[in-house]
Amino acid sequence: MSGTETYDAVIVGASFAGLAAAGQLAGAGRVLLVDREPVGIGETSACATPLAVLERLDAGDALEQVHPEVVINVAGRRVAFEATYPFATFDYRTLCELLADRLDGVEIAVAKFGGVEPDGTLLLGDRRVNAKVVIDASGWRRVVAHALGFPPADRAHLSTGVETRSDHTGGVLEFWFRTRDRPDGIYWAFPAGDHVREGSASYLGNAKGLREDLARFVHIDQFPARAVHGGWFPSQLGEPVAGRVFVVGDAAGHCLPFTAEGIRPALVFGQAAGREAREVLLGNQDLDIALARYRATVERSRRAFRILEVFQNWSFRLPVSVVTPIIRTSSWGPLSRILQKVYWAAADPDTLEVAPGRRSGTSLSDRQGAISPAIARRREVAETMVALGD
Ligand SMILES: Cc1cc2nc3c(=O)[nH]c(=O)nc-3n(C[C@H](O)[C@H](O)[C@H](O)COP(=O)(O)OP(=O)(O)OC[C@H]3O[C@@H](n4cnc5c(N)ncnc54)[C@H](O)[C@@H]3O)c2cc1C
Repeated sequence: MSGTETYDAVIVGASFAGLAAAGQLAGAGRVLLVDREPVGIGETSACATPLAVLERLDAGDALEQVHPEVVINVAGRRVAFEATYPFATFDYRTLCELLADRLDGVEIAVAKFGGVEPDGTLLLGDRRVNAKVVIDASGWRRVVAHALGFPPADRAHLSTGVETRSDHTGGVLEFWFRTRDRPDGIYWAFPAGDHVREGSASYLGNAKGLREDLARFVHIDQFPARAVHGGWFPSQLGEPVAGRVFVVGDAAGHCLPFTAEGIRPALVFGQAAGREAREVLLGNQDLDIALARYRATVERSRRAFRILEVFQNWSFRLPVSVVTPIIRTSSWGPLSRILQKVYWAAADPDTLEVAPGRRSGTSLSDRQGAISPAIARRREVAETMVALGD
């Protein structure tokens, strides 16, 4: 191991939360963004998010399909919600690379976070690094916070999900409550242009039999190797600050309970942390003030997270005869619009910026079903590599 390097800011984790934070820090100082994998490789998500997220980030190249409607299937009934913000499915790698390409001056490195020394020095692969600002964006494992002595993710508040890709097209964004197959969770099918991402999740973090459930759901006997990916996601808002470290995204429990929507909050709160940290790097505010302001931003959403957590906890404990009318009533136009207003405000996509202080006016609503040239090119290359046996 060589000597200790000094940066103004270090971000651990280069997925949604880390890239969003780094985007706010670009150009404000010496910034290092590390991940144990190259950017865009470690996908766990089904990659559905409000279209407004892609619009605000000016990320149309990642768009796969627009979904004006979300359908929840419960007790044999199809309940359709007209989304006030339409949803969109997008390509993980394209979005991550697009956000990374904008990080002018930020050093991006593949390195595994290995711990913190008593004086605060970070161990990143074989490097030792000091930084005034540290951001933990390492997902549910919250590796930096944990290494600093803060509690790991609470297993009682972790859900788990698995997912596969099927080669059919079309359809709408759909969820299923199938209490007979999986009483503690949900299934989904998210059309994404030329394929559909189908998955199943347990709200109780019960991974046993999840893969088999998914196989039954998609009507196949057994998955080929590497055809399924998945992971864990938090279902309770945690602490956004660990000592003098910003904690963002799943690391801070930012995934919304019940809907398991974690991408939008990871981006919104990632940018919120980055925005405060930027002012520290520019010498405009103290780190302690920045941490307090970031904490206050997150705390404003705590009640909405709590309501969703109650929804999640009761959705599979109440009899389906009670849950069904609640879901149907919630889909009624005026009520649905009020509920959605509260839901979106928990992590407002309209706060997202393309770069510090730069808002996007991009509209993508006419891109229904269109795969961007960037994604088409990537898939062509991938198919060629498979054909060449690479
Ligand atoms: C099956 C499944 C489907 C989902 N579908 C959706 C969906 O459709 N829409 C939605 O909004 N949400 C969805 N979610 C939730 C969503 O994926 C997460 O909330 C989101 O990825 C959180 O982003 P993040 O940046 O905080 O963390 P992550 O995306 O988990 O990224 C953490 C990063 O930290 C890196 N890292 C971890 N440990 C280390 C280490 N020791 N050193 C260096 N780097 C490290 C990882 O490699 C990773 O790149 C889904 C989750 C699952 C499991």
